[in-house]
Amino acid sequence: MSLPVENITEPFATKLPAKGFAAMAVSEDLVPFSFERRNPGPHDVQIEIAYCGVCHSDLHFVRNDWGMSTFPLVPGHEIVGRIVRVGDHVTKHKVGDTVGIGCLVDSCQECDACKDDQEQFCPNGVMTYGSKEKDSPSMTYGGYSNQIVCNENFVLKVSNKLPLEKVAPLLCAGITTYSPLRRWKVGPGQKVAVIGLGGLGHMAVKIAVAMGADVTVLSTHPHKKADALHLGAHNFIVTRDEVQAASVMNTFDFILDTISAAHDYNFYLGMLRRNGTMVCVGLPGEPAHVPAFTLVFGNKSLAGSLIGGIAETQEMLDFCAEKNITADIELIAMKDINEAFIRMENADVKYRFVIDMASL
Ligand code: NAP
Ligand code: ZN
Repeated sequence: MSLPVENITEPFATKLPAKGFAAMAVSEDLVPFSFERRNPGPHDVQIEIAYCGVCHSDLHFVRNDWGMSTFPLVPGHEIVGRIVRVGDHVTKHKVGDTVGIGCLVDSCQECDACKDDQEQFCPNGVMTYGSKEKDSPSMTYGGYSNQIVCNENFVLKVSNKLPLEKVAPLLCAGITTYSPLRRWKVGPGQKVAVIGLGGLGHMAVKIAVAMGADVTVLSTHPHKKADALHLGAHNFIVTRDEVQAASVMNTFDFILDTISAAHDYNFYLGMLRRNGTMVCVGLPGEPAHVPAFTLVFGNKSLAGSLIGGIAETQEMLDFCAEKNITADIELIAMKDINEAFIRMENADVKYRFVIDMASL
């Protein structure tokens, strides 16, 4: 008698040795770390990681800015690589495929949010790192590592026509900016502002320009002007310059706020025109004070947006492949991650660090 196929590969029977870099405690430097991942189950793929982007959320997590971190913490949710093994029931991918993983590695796939293709809001969703694994007491570990195992439904197809290291940041910075730009139907005839020219901000500029909008960068750093215009922005405003800031009050239809640190939302809401919307994607740890008056006078909306679902992430990757959009990156060795975090903290990145996993 033959066994049912499901029983042939036991998902958690044996473990897969992995190595990476981890913060062992809050705010500590990342150090080399050996750990185990589950062996691929019937619906899993095993990926050899080629590159992983460095998101400001990784730094927020290491510092426990949001009060939800667990240690040891292996960050990294802008993962690209190659499939080296597939489970028996995998149908979407095959060995040798170039693929990506973003912020999510699993969800219930049954709740309202999952049925609506917004798995990021599944109450039982599993984040790429710092989450409890589905059906297991283990925690998830992210992409600052040599390999990862993931349910096939959370693995994205990546064009091999684009330079892979520059595609990695699309898995978080790309989808996080694409999703609200799409949802608020940004396009020709609209004046759009992007606050903060960092990892998310520079992707937002490229994507909003590709969607046909008139794009202004609002930055605290005057020296980023040439880069902003080179990225395709039509205008650049130094927000700490009172005259420049005054010149854009009441002008934008849509503002995307990517600032990672505490700031005054009212100042930027003043730059919206009547009926305009400002969407927060930046996630400072501290709460902000916004009087109702700021929104009521001008029918303004203040909204938020969290990454994007899996189908929309694939849509964004296909959009970027078609428009030839990738990130501007600085490729670093794994051992240089702590220095990279310091530079990121000082808004000194052009415009995303990406770790070359061959350096591990
Ligand atoms: P980043 O590369 O460090 O860029 C942040 C930018 O914010 C900086 O380059 C700087 O731009 C600006 N900035 C920093 N401190 C500021 C301050 N005190 N006042 C004004 N502007 C300031 O970070 P990132 O990776 O793009 O991430 C940005 C934020 O988005 C983080 O909080 C991250 O956790 C969050 N995030 C959210 C989601 C989501 O789903 N909502 C997903 C990913 C990341 P200038 O130099 O141009 O002023
Ligand atoms: Zn991120």
